[in-house]
Amino acid sequence: MLSTKSKEALGPLFPIANKLRLAFLKLKYAGNKVLCPCCDSSYSEFAPFGNDRRQNAWCPNCESLERHRLLWMYFENKTDLYKRPLKVLHIAPETIFFNHFRKQSNIEYYPVDIFPNLYPKGTLHFDLLNHNVPDNSYDVIICNHVFQYIEEDRKAMKNIYNLMKPGGWGIMQVPINTKTLTTHEDASITDPLEREKIFGLKEHVRYYSYDYADRLRESGLVVKVDDYTAEFTDEDIFKYGFFKGDAVYYCSK
Ligand SMILES: [Zn+2]
Repeated sequence: MLSTKSKEALGPLFPIANKLRLAFLKLKYAGNKVLCPCCDSSYSEFAPFGNDRRQNAWCPNCESLERHRLLWMYFENKTDLYKRPLKVLHIAPETIFFNHFRKQSNIEYYPVDIFPNLYPKGTLHFDLLNHNVPDNSYDVIICNHVFQYIEEDRKAMKNIYNLMKPGGWGIMQVPINTKTLTTHEDASITDPLEREKIFGLKEHVRYYSYDYADRLRESGLVVKVDDYTAEFTDEDIFKYGFFKGDAVYYCSK
């Protein structure tokens, strides 16, 4: 999971280089102080990740990051995802969940994206803003790190509400700017470098803040901002490599 820039620079050598890098990191971080819930591997700590090389972030075995490990445990402990027959729509499917969900016998799994080629093989084409899937089609909708790319995010949220069955639920994570209180968006900012500086990535059109839940609620979704990490001790937050205070946006209809 190197940056896109590194992947482009390495071209076809990327998978080999990444495998070697992971093998090196497994040796470097050999130990038993942290435990990855996604793959049950132990290390002295998780490897650093990102441009800021944040510590205790990246699992050298399954390549999970903090948010993947948190949701992994959330799905298991706080939802009925593995407990009854469910029709699941997964937009922009994370590889680690894609591989896991499609093996579950209770899940009728629909991994989709508007750019399916960027996602694991088997992901289907689907435009959240322009589709003809009937309302009330899915028990569960997972849509993580998507809305910050979409100019018409309110329409996307409303469409998710419509697609969800009454009694259904979903997880809708986005990057949250914890240094402000309100979402920052400005349609006049279109230069990719400026967007990167202001919104976090070249393709992002806004930077959400704590009012994100209110925007989700405008769609009709009932939103619970669940500070799941508050249920863990500091030792366990380190052990599982979570971000302390990383809230889960649990939405229901
Ligand atoms: Zn792992």
